[in-house]
Parts: sequence; structure tokens; C-alpha cells
Amino acid sequence: MQILEKVSAILQSFPLFSANQEFQVYPVAGAMNESHDQSYLDRKYFIDNYKYNCPFCNRKSITYKVTETINFNWSNNREVFGYLVACGGDSCRQTSFHLSDRNIKIYGTEFFSFEENKKTNYISNLDDLDSLFFYHQPTTFFTLDNRINEKIRKLVSEAEGCAKMNYLVGASGCLRKAIYELLELEEVVKEDKDGRELDYGDRIKVLKSKYPLVPPEYFDALANIQGMTSEQLHEGDWKPWTQDEFHFLVETAKEVLTEVYVRPQEKVSVLQKILSLKPQKDEKKGIVEKTAQNQ
Ligand SMILES: [Zn+2]
Repeated sequence: MQILEKVSAILQSFPLFSANQEFQVYPVAGAMNESHDQSYLDRKYFIDNYKYNCPFCNRKSITYKVTETINFNWSNNREVFGYLVACGGDSCRQTSFHLSDRNIKIYGTEFFSFEENKKTNYISNLDDLDSLFFYHQPTTFFTLDNRINEKIRKLVSEAEGCAKMNYLVGASGCLRKAIYELLELEEVVKEDKDGRELDYGDRIKVLKSKYPLVPPEYFDALANIQGMTSEQLHEGDWKPWTQDEFHFLVETAKEVLTEVYVRPQEKVSVLQKILSLKPQKDEKKGIVEKTAQNQ
């Protein structure tokens, strides 16, 4: 469809849209930064109003279609909106489910706009479409790099899912468990060489010394988490974190996981790429030169 027809169809589908209303067009996010690193897009669920990273076929930046919408009452005073989204990949076509507190309007099969404080927000201008949703099935687990241990990825994803639904006890519990799993996976000892028990903070310090190239501030932040004990099973009462505390700690934990399991491997693959470009010695030429020298 031509762009003018599309705009006119959009205007007609919203009868409240006044013809005199200003129609501002913003540049699409990222369009001006084509040459910069955009790998952060691979860590999103929805990239924009028509491309996403598919949790089924794992293809990045593939088209999707919103195929169905529903709304229901979550509670007496909360209405929730659900969206079925189908992958555009010919060999995939699988459908995922997404919940939002916003009534997102659909144009054709694309997320189009939503109202906020009597202002229309257009999805194509949004930097962060993911922020509109509080629940996804499949979860966001695939948006963490798959070089990170699967058990830890699932826990971090579950923690983030709980936090989005404001279930902070669940969010705190899952993230704490993810940190303990990291200590186990890294085989961080529970006792020092004299047999004295190491507390949680000391174990994080052991991990910090194992990875001197990772900024120490990340480990310090994890070491200072209140109420973590040396033994996961023997944890006493602990307070769940606030949203702000959780957000800070989950981003810190994700950065530690990326620094430990992803960045070193990225460096190795760049090195291999560079080495493969190194000109090979011409063996025949070498033999001829040797023979000539010997004569
Ligand atoms: Zn797919």
C-alpha cells in the first residue's frame, strides 16, 4: 500500500482523530546510527512495530504479525490486554502470547499506537516496545546470550518476569538463586584452606579474584547484597528488594554474566577471524628458494 493511502486509512480507522490535529513524524529510533553497534537489538523481544526476535526459531530481526487481541479483567480495577503474535518466518509461523496494561491499537497486523494522558504514542517511534508488556510466553529467557548457562538464564528471566508483574518476593528469590547458581557453576569454595566457612561476601570476593578483567565494581555490588548467607538452604528471613533495588541488581548480575561468559568468547572469535586473514606462506615458493640457495 502506498504511504498516503496507508496514512488516510489510519486516520479513517480512528474517527476521533481530528483532521486539524498536528501529525508529528519522528525519525525511527536507530535509523541515524546504522554504523554503530546494534547488538542490543538482539537482546530485545520486540525490536519495532514489525520486527522481533523469534523465541521459537531463534531468528533475529524477523517479521511478526499480531493475529489476535483480547482484553479481560485482571482484578476489579485492572483491565489487561493480550496479544497473539505469529512469527513471519515461512518455516516457523509459531505463535507467542503477550500481556500489557496498555490498550495497544493494531493497524492491520502491526502494533500501532496507544493513548497515555490523552496523548497518542506511535509504536514506530518508541525506543522500547518491550517496556509496554509485563508478561510474555515464551519468556524473555532467549534474549540473554545462550553462551550463559541455561539454568542461570532461566532464573534471571523468571526474576525479571516476576518483577514486571510486581511480584517482588518471587523476583528477589529467583535472582538470589541465580547468584548462588553462578557461585556453584564457578566452583567457588565454601571454606578457606584452613577449613573456616566463607560467608557469601567472601565467596563473591573469590569470584572477583578469578576474573580480574571484569570491572570489580560489579562484584562489589553483588557482595553488598543484604541478607545473603553463605548457604542458600539455610537462609533466614530476608526482605524482598524494592523495584529500584531489583532493577540495579538484575542489571549488575546480567553484566557480570555477560563479562564472564560472553565477552571473552567474542574476543576469541574476533582473534580467530583476524588470524584467518593472515597471509599463508607459499610452501612451493619456499622449497624453490631453498633449492636455489643450496646450489
Ligand atoms: Zn520463528
